[in-house]
Amino acid sequence: MFRTTTVGSLPKPDWLAEPETLWPAWRLSGDALHDGQRRAALEWLREQENAGLDIVGDGEQFRIHFVHGFLEDIEGIDWSLKTRMGIRNNRYEADVPTVTGPLSRPRPRHVDDARWLRSQTHLPLKITLPGPMTLCDTLANAHYAQRADMAMRFAELLNEEALAIEAAGADVIQFDEPAFNVFLEEVRQWGLPALERAMRGLKVTTVVHICYGYGIEANIQWKSTLGESWRQYEQIFPWINASSVQQVSLEFAGSKVPHDVLRLLPDKELLIGAIEVLPGRLESAEEVAHNILEASRHVDSSRLLPCTNCGMAPLSAELARGKLRALGAGAKLARQKI
Ligand code: ZN
Repeated sequence: MFRTTTVGSLPKPDWLAEPETLWPAWRLSGDALHDGQRRAALEWLREQENAGLDIVGDGEQFRIHFVHGFLEDIEGIDWSLKTRMGIRNNRYEADVPTVTGPLSRPRPRHVDDARWLRSQTHLPLKITLPGPMTLCDTLANAHYAQRADMAMRFAELLNEEALAIEAAGADVIQFDEPAFNVFLEEVRQWGLPALERAMRGLKVTTVVHICYGYGIEANIQWKSTLGESWRQYEQIFPWINASSVQQVSLEFAGSKVPHDVLRLLPDKELLIGAIEVLPGRLESAEEVAHNILEASRHVDSSRLLPCTNCGMAPLSAELARGKLRALGAGAKLARQKI
């Protein structure tokens, strides 16, 4: 009961990349970079094991940002042609690369590293990929007739990658879709069909992660405009419950998500955010246990996996280590209390 896991990203060590930055610059290059990424991933694997976590991952040490790993080798994107675009329905503006031709995946991206990770731990291994809707919210479209068409093409390519990652030995594949609680109606129209396409044929456990974003200033400000009760999940969860995804990862701790929305996913396992991802604050094991037990008032304990609200990439490595331990200890405490 209460198997623990994280959303995915963890801070890069300061010898590998600039610390406490969402888009850090690598401090190594070539083979030294790849060796460094493996060393950092191994350190985080051991940290997760020592914290008592049950499903572990690489902390996304092999990518600079959660969407820019998979995208790096994809053909059809002009990285030098930057288009100014409002991201997450104009929450912030960014100069994003532009899709200028048909998208293709000439080679696997995370597959060799997934195979190596599999050989480094006996625990169930989770690999994360960006979801098709979120990819479309990170790139400008100058080729496909509609964004939905671009999403479906990304979904086909993600599916190829996911099937290869499964064959390499991963136990869980998670698609990150923070865009889902921004575009709402479009989730039903094309976001969820694209996610289903990305998951087609997978036999491993599948997860969709839907959050209110990293603990960075733009997101903290956005949250302050959402009112006293955050209702986005309420609209999309019934559709997600009817989909084939097995687990849903959601923001919970310290948020204004009404707790009874958990009841809208009766057929799924829930990765409950029992840990906040804001900078500077470390929860005690008691607080984590309290969050888990609060969630268990709405969800059968057997379907509840304590997790983090979102990735921890922008935090200090020391704080993230503390949060991993608090998560492990808090889940243990919750098991004793129930
Ligand atoms: Zn997130």
